[in-house]
Amino acid sequence: MTKLVQNLNRLRSEIDEKGVKLVAVSKYHPVDMLREVYDAGQRIFGESHVQELEEKQKVLPSDIEWHFIGHLQTNKVKYIAPYISLIHAVDTLKLLREIDRQAEKAGRTIDCLLQVHVAKEETKYGFLPDELRLMLDEGEWRQFSHARICGLMCMATNTDDEQQIRSEFNEVHQLFDELKARHFSTIATFSELSMGMSEDYKIAIEAGSTMIRVGSLIFGERIY
Ligand SMILES: *Cc1c(COP(=O)(O)O)cnc(C)c1O
Repeated sequence: MTKLVQNLNRLRSEIDEKGVKLVAVSKYHPVDMLREVYDAGQRIFGESHVQELEEKQKVLPSDIEWHFIGHLQTNKVKYIAPYISLIHAVDTLKLLREIDRQAEKAGRTIDCLLQVHVAKEETKYGFLPDELRLMLDEGEWRQFSHARICGLMCMATNTDDEQQIRSEFNEVHQLFDELKARHFSTIATFSELSMGMSEDYKIAIEAGSTMIRVGSLIFGERIY
């Protein structure tokens, strides 16, 4: 068994029984490595650059569920709309609108998560909790029949302070519950909380994550 497959299996044995989904984050890694992990049974892969995703999607098996996990520019939605399964980091209403438009053109529904900005400084992307409340209250999203909001996503601060990470994940979980009750109580598909990466997935799962995005723990260090 290769190192990658060992890494994958170790992780799966930890999370499968908890019903947590694994997004294997394969950005910057060559297709041969993805194929290795695919052959070991992994079907969900996460990429964060459109061009790289395009190249991989063309040559890898068609039953892969591709997730876009990075910052997505509005003008690039059209390239991935025909096949993307889940867009994790929707950070503006404008982007959601464009996803809806391109999904309709492609004759599909595209699942989306709304990115919440909770980390201290790490990323400039994502809705602040109050911006998200406002956006959902305003209600334009209800007209989008091809972009389906399926939950929330966040990145915690990159720190050794576990308490800080835990409190950020808990904050997003609470926000999820609040928004579920207010806007999505009858919408069963609003059910995902994408939280946790190689360094903090255990804390994320304790805080209620349903989907972790793990790269280096499976594929090793990325070469930029
Ligand atoms: C790269 C990336 C990950 C995976 O990071 P690792 O530390 O390698 O597990 C997860 N989420 C997002 C948004 C990323 O960009």
